[in-house]
Amino acid sequence: MLTLRNITVWDTGETIDLVIPETDEGRFFRDEDAVFDGEVDATGLTLAPGFADPHVHFRDPGQTYKESMVSGAAAAASGGYTNVLIMPNTVPALDGVKVTDREQSGAEEVLGKGFDSVIDFLQHYDSAHDVNLPVRYDLCVCASKGRAGHEATDLADWHWYIRGVAEGEKDRSQLDHPITAISDDGSAVTPEILDDVLRMVRESGLYLIEHCEHHDTGAVNDGPVSRKLGVPGIPEDTELKIVARDIEKARETGVHIHFQHVSTAISFDAIRKAKAEGLPITCETAPHYLALSDEALLEYGTLAKMNPPLRSEADRQATIEAIADGTVDLLATDHAPHTLEEKERGFLEAPNGIIGLECAYGVCHKVLVDGGHISDKRLIELMATEPQRLMGHDPADIDAMLDTAGAGEGRRMLDLSAVEHPETADLVVLDTNAAWKVDPERFHSQARNTPFGGWDVTGRPLATIIGSRLVFSRL
Ligand SMILES: [Zn+2]
Ligand SMILES: [Zn+2]
Repeated sequence: MLTLRNITVWDTGETIDLVIPETDEGRFFRDEDAVFDGEVDATGLTLAPGFADPHVHFRDPGQTYKESMVSGAAAAASGGYTNVLIMPNTVPALDGVKVTDREQSGAEEVLGKGFDSVIDFLQHYDSAHDVNLPVRYDLCVCASKGRAGHEATDLADWHWYIRGVAEGEKDRSQLDHPITAISDDGSAVTPEILDDVLRMVRESGLYLIEHCEHHDTGAVNDGPVSRKLGVPGIPEDTELKIVARDIEKARETGVHIHFQHVSTAISFDAIRKAKAEGLPITCETAPHYLALSDEALLEYGTLAKMNPPLRSEADRQATIEAIADGTVDLLATDHAPHTLEEKERGFLEAPNGIIGLECAYGVCHKVLVDGGHISDKRLIELMATEPQRLMGHDPADIDAMLDTAGAGEGRRMLDLSAVEHPETADLVVLDTNAAWKVDPERFHSQARNTPFGGWDVTGRPLATIIGSRLVFSRL
């Protein structure tokens, strides 16, 4: 049992004592000598709903040399996340098609565990691998078969896995990890199948997550930096073209489209206008677009290579503005693990993307809150309550828990073993005042590809609680 004395509730400002009954056996882990038992003076710490990230790549099956469900889930818990959405660019792709060809990369991992689809494999990951992952997760299905962009996936192949469909026929794992969204992330949905995909999105009742960027050539943002490096550039309108195309489609069809990792001023302007019109559009940006511009390529090399690319300083400023004025609905990491060997292949060959889960809060807090752009409370909304809602979950309501289970005169005590629905208590303990240095060697992710190593940041998740039980501590 762990008691946190004098902790502050994130939205009401009330100071309480929090009692966490026990660690989640088999799921719990901690940083070195962090405590998980006894009493801690939590004066100045904040209790908030757990972070949620609707945009992570865990590389399992198929590329577990980069990351696995086990290491990805540990990275999430250590970053304060209680819930993530797995993107479908696994190998084989998460497209609902049966895996039959044993020669196909990654197929043996699925078939060897007795499954014939990536969906079944991921839904039963815990039992098949005899592990207990310290994060909740849902699945995102491909928009196109093999994520190849030529043929829309077949709703009949994966309809059964949607929440609310044939619930009585499903086991616990299937109910816990439903398909909740559709995306071809890594690529935008191709023009040839866009109408088919939108029809399928509507029929499924889900929403489309769009990687809103397309370019045929180029490796980094087009501009003075790309010219200095002698690397072919990606023009800024490669993003707006997809954003504008899809805004028209949202208008035409009424389908909810969520834009991933928006990075340019011109795209934010278009999204701002579309939202003002009441169109069913939401969007996210990632920590790197608000913290870095393409100048970072000169300092960090390919550790600053991603897709969409880091843009100009003016675009970075526009990103912060779009966060401050509410155009950006939420922050997602696009956690994209690669090995350092892969990242060392040079600007043309190195794969796109960086890992993000374990320093997202610190980086965003440093830039956005210390920078005076948003409040601590708003940052928690952008990383916890807003993404939870997009993903179809109710964020933990700490105040309601206190009303039913809070005991004591004056400073109330919240004993998580006494709350009415302990399974809803997904929480994070934050030190909004912590100043710390990002050290990738101490990440729980298997990957190290981040430009933020050595950065001095502020704000740190100290403990992660899922279903009323402690899954991670660095207290
Ligand atoms: Zn993407
Ligand atoms: Zn992505």
